[in-house]
Amino acid sequence: DRASGRSGGLNPENSAADSKNLRVKLVLLGDSGVGKSCIVLRFVRGQFDPTSKVTVGASFLSQTIALQDSTTVKFEIWDTAGQERYAALAPLYYRGAAVAVIVYDITSSDSFAKAQYWVKELQKHGSPDIILALVGNKADLQEKRKVSVQDGTEYAEKNGMFFIETSAKTADNINELFEEIAKRLPRPTSS
Ligand code: GDP
Repeated sequence: DRASGRSGGLNPENSAADSKNLRVKLVLLGDSGVGKSCIVLRFVRGQFDPTSKVTVGASFLSQTIALQDSTTVKFEIWDTAGQERYAALAPLYYRGAAVAVIVYDITSSDSFAKAQYWVKELQKHGSPDIILALVGNKADLQEKRKVSVQDGTEYAEKNGMFFIETSAKTADNINELFEEIAKRLPRPTSS
């Protein structure tokens, strides 16, 4: 069970009173152009604005969400800033990440193949407890679809990943993506 136990990238705030406030490093991976920056901007700012990409790459953006059990989760979201080409940098990037969100574009089979490459890479070199989420983005472009829902679902199931299709453009399933990840985070044992 990948979701159980302590994760390398999960840093519960130290004081006991804060034991329900989690802080997690989340990295985004996937081919250039699949919509990683747009997903982050949609989640953090509620906007779809592809032109503001540059500012996202600077370091990371953070966003806190509250769950129904009154746990809060602060996501520190790292975007590759276009460096997905430099494979040698990747381990530095995902070191210490509790969550990796691997994104493809449902209109691009190549991007789905690339997503599978990243899954293997993280299974080999990521933290053993890392939570992997597979995201098929641009779900609004149904007429151009090349990767079926079934392909995504089956691949994710085989690899013990959470799967969801999103649209950063229409905001479909963007909040749900992060809420589902938050629910899968291991909770620090409260004393
Ligand atoms: P990144 O390189 O993975 O960070 O991709 P970007 O976030 O820069 O997005 C690449 C392009 O895809 C931009 O032109 C966006 O407008 C477009 N895009 C991103 N998400 C969506 C989406 O959900 N639907 C549609 N139709 N286009 C999107």
